[in-house]
Amino acid sequence: GIDAFIERLGKSGTIPGVERIWRSKDGSLIDVHVTASKIRQKGKKLGFFVARDVTKRKQAEEVLRESEERFRSLTQLSSDFYWETDTEHRFAVRGPGDRASSVSVFPPGAHFGKTRWELPYTSPSEAGWREHRTTLDAHLPFHDFRFSRAAPDGAERHFSISAEPVFDAAGNFKGYRGVGSDITERMRAEAEMRKLSSAIQQTADCVIITDRDGVIEYVNDAFERATGYTRAEALGRTPRLVKSGLQETGFYERLWSTILAGTTFSEVFVNRKKNGELYYEEKTITPLRDCDGRITHFISTGKDIGERMQAQERLHYLAHHDALTELPNRVLFLDRLNQALNRAHRHKRIVGIMFLDLDRFKNINDTLGHDVGDALLKALAVRLHGCVREGDSVARFGGDEFAILLEDITQIKDVSVVADKVLNAFTQPFVINAHELFITPSIGISLHPTDGATGAALLKNADAAMYRAKDAGKNNYQFYSADMTTAAFERLTLETSLRHALARGEFVLHYQPQIELGTGRVIGVEALVRWQHPEFGLLAPAHFITIAEETGAIVPMGEWVARTAMLQTKRWREAGLRQLRIAINVSARQFNEPNFVDTIARLLRETALPADALELEITESVIMKNAEKTIERLQALHSMGVHFAVDDFGTGYSSLSYLRRFPIHTLKVDQSFIHDLTEDSGDVEIVKTIIAMARGLKLAVVAEGVETHEQLVFLQVHGCHAVQGYLISRPLSVERMTERLNQSDARPWLG
Ligand code: C2E
Ligand code: MG
Ligand code: MG
Repeated sequence: GIDAFIERLGKSGTIPGVERIWRSKDGSLIDVHVTASKIRQKGKKLGFFVARDVTKRKQAEEVLRESEERFRSLTQLSSDFYWETDTEHRFAVRGPGDRASSVSVFPPGAHFGKTRWELPYTSPSEAGWREHRTTLDAHLPFHDFRFSRAAPDGAERHFSISAEPVFDAAGNFKGYRGVGSDITERMRAEAEMRKLSSAIQQTADCVIITDRDGVIEYVNDAFERATGYTRAEALGRTPRLVKSGLQETGFYERLWSTILAGTTFSEVFVNRKKNGELYYEEKTITPLRDCDGRITHFISTGKDIGERMQAQERLHYLAHHDALTELPNRVLFLDRLNQALNRAHRHKRIVGIMFLDLDRFKNINDTLGHDVGDALLKALAVRLHGCVREGDSVARFGGDEFAILLEDITQIKDVSVVADKVLNAFTQPFVINAHELFITPSIGISLHPTDGATGAALLKNADAAMYRAKDAGKNNYQFYSADMTTAAFERLTLETSLRHALARGEFVLHYQPQIELGTGRVIGVEALVRWQHPEFGLLAPAHFITIAEETGAIVPMGEWVARTAMLQTKRWREAGLRQLRIAINVSARQFNEPNFVDTIARLLRETALPADALELEITESVIMKNAEKTIERLQALHSMGVHFAVDDFGTGYSSLSYLRRFPIHTLKVDQSFIHDLTEDSGDVEIVKTIIAMARGLKLAVVAEGVETHEQLVFLQVHGCHAVQGYLISRPLSVERMTERLNQSDARPWLG
């Protein structure tokens, strides 16, 4: 373009400066400012150029422009605002930061020409501003000066400003340049945070905050108090610091898998304090997440529940132990038993249960008092413990009942060994308050698996076996066996139906004649009760008399027997058998009823049977027990004319001379003597003696259970008065008996 340049120069003569970009000799580009003019030299027209290198200046200009651009962006994009004040601290730029979001609540230019404290404010106080102004007047920089003012919408907003003084080249103060920001939101968040953290700090619960790896970042005061560790000791460690090692296996695995899955974990922890003491903490661990949902921290809050746990443990102990002996009670025993059964099942082992009841313990309580009884039970608990291996349980079920659980038995013999040991432990007396007490136990034993699958069944069967031990004469042990169950079951069903038998008219009487040997005539009949059971058929007394005695049902039943038999005898006597006597069996329980005498007297009146037609059969044991009262009763009835017979004579311990004291008419020789009469010479002698002595005492002798002719002959030869037995007649129903009595003349009894 140089030619065009020269052309332009030729026309105008001069050219004002223009800027051009030239390439220098080394190839780099430079900015030049060129001016040109026409001059004449010796009449010759010449062109004159001046070119100046302006590259440096251009570069400086560009830097400045960029800097201004940057400043504009900054103030526009930042949430902070920029401001300037003059030497009098008045706002010097119109609308500084007006476009900055945080101050847009104020109208643009509202500040211009005013000082900050001339604008309405809510804080700081006058004094606060005065202090600020001393800084300003000293032309010092300041940082984070805070003030508040009401925004046009009325809400109070808080600001923080920082600034530095500006001086000119000569060092004269020109004013301040500063930035500021609206910190309203930040302050609210901070206040919220302060509230929360002081709440956490002061709460009664232990609070621990850990990072994701379980490293403790925070603990509160309650943690320090509860554990004895200071904050400084805890920070940077993990909660393993308080681990007791008493948590069940798998506990911590469960904990971590729960909280790492983002779920809250709540459990009772057993932890250890710095001083080694254990404490119970009911703890909840909650994962904290960041805004992306990633777990960043765990916060654990816990309550020391030591007191509650202690109370609970005590309650648990009381609920599972006997207060007197501190032995496990039935509940705990059953629990242990069931656990033992589970183990035994796995290891194919035998489990043994001993059920132990003290014989006649009541006597000790009654005669020596409960204090002695209690002390004996305590001493006994200790002795029983000495009989078993560690791991076997001794329990008290209450009263004088104890149970022993024997685990890990390989052979049944082992159980007998322990049972013998237990019996042996009772051979030495217990010395209580200077009393030497001898006591014995009755022990029932049941074994798993043979005697039951469940704890309850085994206990029930051991209990049944214990009763058998009592029956077998006490101070012994009995194993449970299957036939016992049937017996117990039968007894149970009989017991229930026996209660209704009388009302349902299920009892019937059979009669068996007593024949006078001298004359061959019937002198009496014995009434023998039977029970027409709806399921089991006709039951003999052996099946139900004992139960009836134990339950008391014997009393109303006995009255029914007496009335029925007496009425029937009355009829037979009116029909012609004028001398006929009725023999009625009376059990001990009946005889000992307070109104027994009255009942018999009343029945005699009711039936109008002459008293001497009635013979009551009592056993030797009735006579032996409580002799005075017995004599009184016998005497009362005797004076009315009633006869008495001693039944089953020879099986008890009464001597004939002793019997002399009682108003008795007849001895009934027990059938066991009659049975072996011809074979056993011993019995022969006994029967001969009984007959001879009875005659001497003017007592009638009746032989029971005469079944053979030889027996009959023997009795005749030795002067027995009367006989009763199958040889003459079985017990018969009332119809058949009536029939047979009517045939007496045609068909002799001894025929
Ligand atoms: P017990 O009073 O000694 O009655 C005699 C028992 O011997 C009766 O048995 C009778 O059937 C049986 N007997 C009679 N002759 C013979 C014989 O030749 N050979 C054999 N082997 N036995 C013979 P039962 O009827 O079974 O009565 C058994 C026991 O039940 C009676 O013995 C009596 O103690 C009691 N008992 C029967 N009825 C009553 C009753 O109404 N009240 C009470 N309290 N007990 C009764
Ligand atoms: Mg009898
Ligand atoms: Mg008898």
